[in-house]
Amino acid sequence: MCAIFGIAGHDEASNLTYLGLHALQHRGQEGAGIVSTDGKECYVHRRKGLVADIFTSPALSRLKGHTAIGHNRYSTAGGNTVENLQPIWLKTSLGWIGIAHNGNLTNAKQLAKTLEQEGSIFQSTSDTEVITHLMARSGEKKLPKALVTALKKVEGAYSLLVLSEEYFIAVRDPRGFRPLVMGTLDGKPVFASETTAFDLMGAKFQREIEPGEMITVSLKNSFFSVHSSKPFAQTELKRCVFEHIYFARPDSDLFGENVYHMRKAFGRQLAIEHGPEDADIVVPIPDSGVYSAIGYAEQAKLPFEMGIIRSHYIGRTFIEPKQSIRNFGVKLKLNPVSATIRGKNVVVVDDSLVRGTTSKKLIQHLRDAGAKNVHLRISAPPTANPCYYGIDTPTRKELLASSHSVNQIREFIGADTLGYLSLEGVVKVASEHTGKGYCHACFSGEYPTAV
Ligand code: AMP
Repeated sequence: MCAIFGIAGHDEASNLTYLGLHALQHRGQEGAGIVSTDGKECYVHRRKGLVADIFTSPALSRLKGHTAIGHNRYSTAGGNTVENLQPIWLKTSLGWIGIAHNGNLTNAKQLAKTLEQEGSIFQSTSDTEVITHLMARSGEKKLPKALVTALKKVEGAYSLLVLSEEYFIAVRDPRGFRPLVMGTLDGKPVFASETTAFDLMGAKFQREIEPGEMITVSLKNSFFSVHSSKPFAQTELKRCVFEHIYFARPDSDLFGENVYHMRKAFGRQLAIEHGPEDADIVVPIPDSGVYSAIGYAEQAKLPFEMGIIRSHYIGRTFIEPKQSIRNFGVKLKLNPVSATIRGKNVVVVDDSLVRGTTSKKLIQHLRDAGAKNVHLRISAPPTANPCYYGIDTPTRKELLASSHSVNQIREFIGADTLGYLSLEGVVKVASEHTGKGYCHACFSGEYPTAV
């Protein structure tokens, strides 16, 4: 998963892009980059690490110009290497081009193989680079037409920001897998993966980029006029339901609904489907389980307690002092409040269960802290299938639900009872809030494209 942000025609383009990426850090923590332009030259800064460490004052002062695009990386396609950091920047027959991509292409490998056989030389293993080669070979003289020709050949998920000397382009794939919103700041067009980036800088949210829509901003005049087109064949809407469940920030409005409200609604539905047994309190696994746990507690008319405390100071490369200190990792991050838990029947709520390692260890810690019974509730269906559209999920083999029944999972993690929100429940709640048209392949295995 990744984040993208861009702004055209603003004196503070790079500083604002830095702030936008900061607000979107949750979508990718491996590395980040900004490409800016003054309409002639372009300026690039990309590094591994976190946004606040990468963009120092000297780095930002070198990112000159009135227009910039930025990217936070979370590697899903291609490895975690410097060459795979974005925005991709390269010189082509169309001049220099910068591209920031959120999503994964599902036919990138086949396309890259054909392009290589025809003489293309790839600098990275990122699927995004395929788009640049297709553009360079399109035969088109202007960037917007070259981009449309290239995108008509690719399949899968893309929310893209593209920058050149002449153009700033924002485009979203026809199925609308990943979010992309537009707004204005000081009258200038601004684009982001999520609305929370606009909140930070006081930009006014205008609307989502529609699935299959391309917004072109001309940098050649000083008006930065915005032109919308729909160059792709219409297809079924397939927005990623997991963005609502886990990925997006709860203060963002996503696909037309606030993420926090949606998660609470999932929690209420979960309580309807899997009532609280003999529960005394509802406890979330922080932070991701908090919002659905509030909804669950509301619906079940049970007290909501922060019975597990999360440390916010976990370093990225943590080394256990002794191999023999087992479970150290989870305990360092999540610790039960014994005084709240002791002697209670506890409903624990989380948003998803992937490998089951977090919940297995945590349930043992809750028992050690004196919990009488532990009932685990998950505000999503079992994650049984990998995502090929940009969410970082492990291989099918590592996904507990791909080879275990709910009862086997319950036994493995050691819960007294286990209840997942049904697929019908997720789709019902999401559709009631934002209309139909979701991808839920990670739960259902129904992939909207060939994979
Ligand atoms: P696990 O211990 O593997 O079952 O992981 C479960 C936890 O991972 C849950 O608390 C989720 O909030 C979180 N999670 C789910 N999907 C992802 C993802 N794609 N990237 C990072 N964390 C995730």
